[in-house]
Amino acid sequence: MDIQYQLSTSPKPKTKDESTLRFGRTFSDHMFEMHYSPEKGWHDQQIHPYGPMLFEPASPVLHYAQEIFEGMKAYHHPDGEIRLFRPLRNLERLNNSARRMAMPTIDIEANLAYIDALVDLERDWVPKTLGTALYLRPAMVADGAFLGAKKAQQYRYFIICSPSGPYYEQGIKPVSIWIEKRYVRAVRGGTGDAKTGGNYASSFLVTSIAQEAGYNQVLWLDGKDNRYVEEVGAMNIFFVYGKKLVTPPLGGSILPGITRDSILQLAPELGLDVSEERIDIYDLLRDIQNGRVTEAFGCGTAAILSPINRFGFDGKDYLIADKIGDVTQLIYDTMTGIQYGTNTDTHNWLHTVARKRQID
Ligand SMILES: *Cc1c(COP(=O)(O)O)cnc(C)c1O
Repeated sequence: MDIQYQLSTSPKPKTKDESTLRFGRTFSDHMFEMHYSPEKGWHDQQIHPYGPMLFEPASPVLHYAQEIFEGMKAYHHPDGEIRLFRPLRNLERLNNSARRMAMPTIDIEANLAYIDALVDLERDWVPKTLGTALYLRPAMVADGAFLGAKKAQQYRYFIICSPSGPYYEQGIKPVSIWIEKRYVRAVRGGTGDAKTGGNYASSFLVTSIAQEAGYNQVLWLDGKDNRYVEEVGAMNIFFVYGKKLVTPPLGGSILPGITRDSILQLAPELGLDVSEERIDIYDLLRDIQNGRVTEAFGCGTAAILSPINRFGFDGKDYLIADKIGDVTQLIYDTMTGIQYGTNTDTHNWLHTVARKRQID
């Protein structure tokens, strides 16, 4: 592994009171970067101080949004080690996103080693309090200078690290959800199952509409019939029917969440049934009204689990519960127990960051 190191000469002060950490607002001292050209492939791997990057104004990413990203967390464990949760899944998904966006793929093993090298260097930036983590944001962008509307020749890949507190600033507190009828996030055959920037840019208008109406997040319906449940914000969604979990199947327009996949694997071990099925919004709202839906939650790396207390549709509110339900709490405790190293990792989901670099 060949990485050039340029270490920061002015390390930033770290937040002493970890309870004040927010999500994605502060960044560690160093970042990873590498470049791609058709002749050289991926090359020029470097770890250097975090700071502004230079782009040509004609850089294609700035015009055509040829961009993909990932999100994963490094957790501080009681034995002093730093561990990542299923990082290979993130790198495989990055390659799937790359293929969809006509971008070059990366070597998964080599890239896990780059992540290790960066996190190893930034060990002291991994916060230690339960609920906090070092959030890693790998991203790949089209580079160079040309305005032709076709795939770029050059690319840049980088990873930044952000010590982060809970995603929701008031802790794990139920969120209210606006069900969107008019706009859609993704269609089958589109880019909904790739983690690519444009999917988010096109969702912000609706998030603002929802927030103005007094809701925290948006539930997206499918782009063809405007009727079947897809995702909530940048999270997958689960509904609890007593001891059964129901979530929409991945149909090409839904982002295949690693948290979603982990919950589907863990739930049966917790005595819960799971079912991936198409969820018609009108059936769902009826099931909420007659009390068959006992809990609902969104899930993703950033928030882990986000209990839902209320849906709004067509000017009407559908209430679920005011506080986090037992099933949601059980899954949350099980997931975070594995991620924070207090539960046994029977699935071999954790990756220990190698201690390689001796820092003087
Ligand atoms: C990242 C993301 C998720 C959650 O994926 P995880 O791997 O669980 O973090 C769900 N939906 C969208 C749209 C996302 O971008």
